[in-house]
Amino acid sequence: LLALLQEQRKDEEAEQLRSEVQAVADIYATVIRIALPSGAMALVRRTPEAEALLGGDYTHFVERADQLAAQISAEQFRPLVRQFMDPATLEERLAGVNSITQEFIDDNERWIRLRFVVVDRTATGALHHLLLAFESIDEDRRRQEKLRRLSETDLMTGIRNRGSGEALVRAAVANGQSGMFCLMDADHFKSINDTFGHATGDKVIVAIADCLTGTFRESDIVFRLGGDEFAVFSPGVTSREIGESIISRLFRRIAQTTIPELTDRAIELSVGISFYDAHKGDSFEAMYKRADEGTYESKKQRGNNLTFR
Ligand code: GH3
Ligand code: MG
Repeated sequence: LLALLQEQRKDEEAEQLRSEVQAVADIYATVIRIALPSGAMALVRRTPEAEALLGGDYTHFVERADQLAAQISAEQFRPLVRQFMDPATLEERLAGVNSITQEFIDDNERWIRLRFVVVDRTATGALHHLLLAFESIDEDRRRQEKLRRLSETDLMTGIRNRGSGEALVRAAVANGQSGMFCLMDADHFKSINDTFGHATGDKVIVAIADCLTGTFRESDIVFRLGGDEFAVFSPGVTSREIGESIISRLFRRIAQTTIPELTDRAIELSVGISFYDAHKGDSFEAMYKRADEGTYESKKQRGNNLTFR
C-alpha cells in the first residue's frame, strides 16, 4: 500500500511539473526542437503558425536556417536574424551559456524575441539538442516606448523636458551639427501669477510652448527648461538674418495669442541667441553661456527683445 501511495505521489508531482513547464512554454508562440548534427526538427507544440513556418519539412535545420531567417523577419532585420540563426557559429556562441537571444521585427511589423536554448550536449560537450523559441515582445516594446516618451516630456506643455532636450542638443553638436541656439524667458512672469493667479500663469506657459512648436520646424529641438524658460536648437540655421526672421515670426504669433483671463496684458519674451559653429572648436557650454548673456541683455529693455551673442 505504501509503495502504491508513493507511486501516486510521484505521478502527481510529474503532472504538476508538466503543467508548470507547459505554463512557461505557453509564453512562446512557437518552439522547435532541433537535434544536431542531423538537424532534424520537431514542433514542441503544434500550432498552425509553426506548421506553416516549417511547411511539413522537419529535416535539415542546418541547410534551411538561412531560408527560415529570411521567412520570419522584416527585410531590414534579415542580416541580423540570418547571423543569429547561422548553424556554423552556434557552437561558439553557445559556449559556456545555456541560451542566446535576438530581438527583431517580423514580416507583420511585430517585435519578436528568438531564443536558442541548449537542452543537452554529447559526452564530448558538443551541442546535441536545442530549442528554438519565438516569443512575442510587441506589447512590452510598445509599453517601453510609451514610458520613454513620457519620461522625455514636460507634462504641462507636452514639449520636451530639459533632460531630453539638452541631451539631444548635446548629441547634435557633438556630431558636428552647426545651428542656432535660442534661450527665452518670459518677462515679469511673477507679476502675471500674482495679478491673474497661478492657473492663468500655467495657461501662459502652455501658450508660449504652442507658439514655439508652431513657429519652429518639426526637426528643431524645442524644450522647456522649467518655469517660464524655454530653449530651441535649430540645426543648419547659421545666419542672423534667418534667426531674426524666425524670432519675429515667434513674436508675432505670441502677440496674436489670446488668453481671456489675461485681459489686455501682453505676453513678452526676452530672447538670447548664439550660433554653434562646428568648425570653430565651440562647445555646448560656451554656446549656452553666450545665449544666456543674450537673454540677460534683452531683459534690460521693455517688451519682446532679441540679442545675438
Ligand atoms: P523676469 O522678467 O526677470 O524674467 O521676471 P519674472 O517675474 O519672469 O521672474 P523669473 O523669470 O525669474 O521667474 C519665473 C517665475 O515663474 C518664478 C515662478 O514663480 C513662476 N513659475 C515657475 N514655474 C511655474 C509654473 O509651472 N506655473 C506658473 N504659473 N508659474 C511658474
Ligand atoms: Mg521670467
